[in-house]
Order: sequence, then C-alpha cells, then structure tokens
Amino acid sequence: MTTRLRVLDDGAWISVDDHREIRVSELWRLDAPGFCSCDLADLVVENFQEVGVDGSRVEARVYGQCIACGGAGITDWLPVGRVRGGEFVELDRSCVRRTRRE
Ligand SMILES: [Zn+2]
Repeated sequence: MTTRLRVLDDGAWISVDDHREIRVSELWRLDAPGFCSCDLADLVVENFQEVGVDGSRVEARVYGQCIACGGAGITDWLPVGRVRGGEFVELDRSCVRRTRRE
C-alpha cells in the first residue's frame, strides 16, 4: 500500500492520494525550540515546502510566520496527520505539533 503525497499549487496544498487535504493559512501551535523566541509558536502556515511519510505519520516542512513575535522561517518536519487503514486522518488542529526529535 503506497500513499501518494504531493505539494500542489506552489505550496498552497498538500494532496494525499490525489485528494486536497491540507491548505495554507491554518494556524498551528508549535513546540519547536529554535524556530522563534516563543515557548510555543503560533504559526500561520504560508507555504508547504516538502511532504513526506514516516511509517504511518504524514509530515511536512512549512514556511510560516509566528503571529506572536513575528519570527518567520521554514520549520523542521512537523506532523500533519496519519494514514490509518489506507485513509488519511488529519491531525486535530488544536493540538501542539512537535518537531521530530532524535
Ligand atoms: Zn514566536
């Protein structure tokens, strides 16, 4: 079973198995030390850079800006959802997203 992941429209959408699932302009809470000076960043997603899958976890690197401090940049890999039984399940939008840790 393969999952087809693509970034569409110059980074405006993530497509999973040819369905447009996640779009920019969402607000994500990040626990991403080093992204900006906040403990938890309030990131407005402006552009998807890359999308990938690690086991069942679908991840993306995004360009965005923290609305709390104004810091902007490209994040490390962040979870966006999971593939469960061949179906994509988007991560709850209110959750805090953590970058992958070694
Ligand atoms: Zn910040």
